[in-house]
Amino acid sequence: MIANDEKSRLGRKVRRFRKISLTALLSGLVTISVLMTLTIMVITLYTTQKQELVNNTLSLNYASAVQMSQTLNSLFESMQKSLKQGADYLKNVDYKDKETLNNTLNLIHQSSDYFNSVALVDETGLMQSISPYSKVSVGKYVKSESAKAAIKAKSSYISDAYITPRTKRRIIFISEPVFGANGNYKGTIGGNIYLQENNILDLLFGSQLKGSNGAYFFIVDHKGTLLFHPNVSKIGKNISENTVVRKLLQNKTGKEQYTNLEGANSLAGYYKVPATDWGVVIVSPTKMVYDQLNRQIGLLLLYTSLPFVLLTLVALRVARRLVQPFVYLANLVQQVDKGRTELPVVKPHWNREVDLLTRTVIGAMASFRNKTDQLVYDARTDMLTGLNNRRTFEEVIQNWIHEHISFAIVVLDIDRFKLINDTFGHSTGDEVLKQIARLIQLSVRPEDVCSRFGGEEFVVLLRNYDSKMAFEIAEHIRISVEKSVLAVDRRVTISAGIAEFPLHARSETELFHLADNALYLAKEEGRNRTIVIQSVENKTPISNK
Ligand code: GH3
Ligand code: MG
Ligand code: MG
Repeated sequence: MIANDEKSRLGRKVRRFRKISLTALLSGLVTISVLMTLTIMVITLYTTQKQELVNNTLSLNYASAVQMSQTLNSLFESMQKSLKQGADYLKNVDYKDKETLNNTLNLIHQSSDYFNSVALVDETGLMQSISPYSKVSVGKYVKSESAKAAIKAKSSYISDAYITPRTKRRIIFISEPVFGANGNYKGTIGGNIYLQENNILDLLFGSQLKGSNGAYFFIVDHKGTLLFHPNVSKIGKNISENTVVRKLLQNKTGKEQYTNLEGANSLAGYYKVPATDWGVVIVSPTKMVYDQLNRQIGLLLLYTSLPFVLLTLVALRVARRLVQPFVYLANLVQQVDKGRTELPVVKPHWNREVDLLTRTVIGAMASFRNKTDQLVYDARTDMLTGLNNRRTFEEVIQNWIHEHISFAIVVLDIDRFKLINDTFGHSTGDEVLKQIARLIQLSVRPEDVCSRFGGEEFVVLLRNYDSKMAFEIAEHIRISVEKSVLAVDRRVTISAGIAEFPLHARSETELFHLADNALYLAKEEGRNRTIVIQSVENKTPISNK
């Protein structure tokens, strides 16, 4: 009871331990190693590339800001030059000559894309002309503080951004004083830039940063007011609180990662425009830079996943091919153990260990089988004569009776064998036994079973024979023994008794007993003869003599 409990406890223990297949193990190992490699690669790439990308973006933005500020500087110099030329031309023009005035302003306006409009205001603040012509403005006095300040300045002037009182446009203007031939001040000629409409800044820089990483730029004046921004609604807004703009207002230039007023982390390069005291800022949202990095890593993962899948498939295939011989050997051992199969010829395997294992297992099984075959043979055979032994005889007769196979049993005994032994010696006796055994074996068919029952007594089971046919065979044996020249210089004879299944008896014991009785009678009646038990009832034997 205790032993059973222990057994079932062990059984449960064994069942709980889950077994893993070599295929799963190998492909699992490959997957883990590839995943680990990819993880290390991604982490390394991310940390090194992130800083590099941030630094590169900052440098690029700074370089662009420098370049843009130089362009802006040259632009303003050209604008001023163009206005100066206009002022120079207007030196001798009478302001009453409206046609010449209009033509001159039209020429300045149309000869370049610098200004959205060009206006001439005399020293009293009266708008003399404007190109393109505007009925609302010409002949009126300018109202804005900036315009008044420009007239008052009598020198080159750049206005702040403001909204014009009449047309309600957000503008800045650049102006140059007009002096008459004798040096008298005749007012000012100004080029206007409409900040929230298509203007020269848009034309020059609008498309410049498109497509590069979500980067954009903006321009602020010396007060931190936005003059240009891709989001037009922001133009005119003061952003002097912006970290980068604050630095520009302190006359600093540089590059920096900062958080803008909307709370977005950004990478900016900023630079001053000397001619106008404006500042140019190029900004890339940090998120965009990281997104780009993530895209790159995503792509990398995508490209590496193909070899990874291939590697896993190869590992799976190799694992399967490695496993095959193990499964084959396990099945083979099972089949051989049940005695169902022949051992195969060993085929060489490409894997050294598998090859070794296959050879060893099949070799060991072959030797095991030889030994078992030998043992079985030994257990079933009489060693002296090579005939079946008594155990085999008993097995066969039981089987035949069980399967209702009709047969005849012949029990043979050597006559006076003791005498032969005594006269010629035991080993000569053995020789006689062997020779008689061979004669018996030669006299029967393959399906008949000859056994040495013990000592000098033999039993022959003749399949599907009745006692009459068995009598013929027994007689044949008896005569051939009598006539043969055996190992002894003397005539050797045998006696035989015969019974038939199922005619004479239905059990093997009784059947044997009857045949033995017949043999006994044969001995009694003088030996060297065959006697068949006659019938079950009277058991009267028939004899050959
Ligand atoms: P019977 O005609 O009545 O059969 O006389 P028998 O002498 O043959 O009978 P008995 O049973 O008296 O003697 C059988 C002898 O067979 C006795 C024994 O020495 C001999 N014998 C038994 N087995 C072997 C054997 O394996 N080898 C040899 N050489 N002799 C054996
Ligand atoms: Mg005998
Ligand atoms: Mg005997």
